[in-house]
Amino acid sequence: MKLAVLGATGSIGVSTLDVVARHPDRFQVVALSGHSRVEILAAQCRLCHPAYAVVGSATDAHRLAPLLKDSGLRTEVLYGADALIQVASLPEVDAVMAAIVGAAGLPPTLEAVRAGKRVLLANKEALVMAGAVFMAEVRRAGALLLPIDSEHNAVFQSMPYNYSGDMARGGVRRILLTASGGPFRVTPPDVLARVTPEQAVAHPNWSMGRKISVDSATMMNKGLEVIEAHWLFNAPADRIEVVIHPQSVIHSLVDYEDGSVLAQLGNPDMRTPIAHALAWPERIDSGVAALDLLAVARLDFERPDPLRFPCLDLAYRALRAEGNAAAVLNAANEVAVAAFLEHRLPLPGNR
Ligand code: NAD
Ligand code: MG
Repeated sequence: MKLAVLGATGSIGVSTLDVVARHPDRFQVVALSGHSRVEILAAQCRLCHPAYAVVGSATDAHRLAPLLKDSGLRTEVLYGADALIQVASLPEVDAVMAAIVGAAGLPPTLEAVRAGKRVLLANKEALVMAGAVFMAEVRRAGALLLPIDSEHNAVFQSMPYNYSGDMARGGVRRILLTASGGPFRVTPPDVLARVTPEQAVAHPNWSMGRKISVDSATMMNKGLEVIEAHWLFNAPADRIEVVIHPQSVIHSLVDYEDGSVLAQLGNPDMRTPIAHALAWPERIDSGVAALDLLAVARLDFERPDPLRFPCLDLAYRALRAEGNAAAVLNAANEVAVAAFLEHRLPLPGNR
């Protein structure tokens, strides 16, 4: 299978290349993109020998090209948003890993869908911003959309095989998304107003990029995931529930009409959903250790506190409002998270 990995230098991108490297007979990397971390991208090119490498600017392209040439690589260096669109829809590419963070990920991800690729969707913001258009294009182009977000990947695995988007027909009562509660699950409210970006990005269970880590600290991430689940599984807002599960071992659950609840469990490591989506419907080694239930010992569940995590309710309200509300929510969140990371705003929603 020939791959384009968009956002290769990020947390999901690095995990993707780790899984890919375990299966050299199965996967071939045709294109890699990284926005500005040129040295990391150059090192990845030396390992994967892609035909194309995409960076954000001409300046970065001029830095990357000599590094690749000195290594004897014939990788073509491209830059800018149009180049991302170009590599996402190359005829020789079978599958696109959409792992750019934020709104910038939407255009190339949508292009991969339009080109009918197997699309491995990590960039949840694309669905939050443009879910109706995005899903209509998936159906029109016959693209295969496989969720990478651990919760949605767990739901995908727990849904009826060949789920058609009809919950009633599949006998599905509810989708239960689990949430870790992030680093501030039990932090006293007066302390919350003064937390730093460094504290916010120190997630207890998952190692992730800075933006999604802040989203996890505010639980806006779970709100975005409720909207993502709505579009992926054609589930109405009142059939999607969120439960805090601090151990992050159950990645989400599907509740059926007959009382059965199916769940997917595993160590919190994104290489599991990545390997699942790369190989689906087969299973391959991801490098993730076997789950040790005795070491986990217990699984706890809590209701999210709406006063501590108001972003979750904002997301439900945006979903129910329909139209552009979720796109506005996503844009406001991206601006607020950037301001928080630059010490210009206290943690959103906790005052
Ligand atoms: P990250 O910050 O570690 O990496 C982001 C990648 O996007 C980098 O390669 C960066 O170069 C690229 N990028 C950033 N801005 C760009 C721009 N303007 N144009 C083009 N490329 C740009 O982020 P991440 O944690 O890997 O998350 C990537 C996506 O996956 C996000 O949408 C996130 O919500 C989702 N996701 C991540 C995880 C996780 O465990 N990290 C889990 C679930 C979902
Ligand atoms: Mg998630």
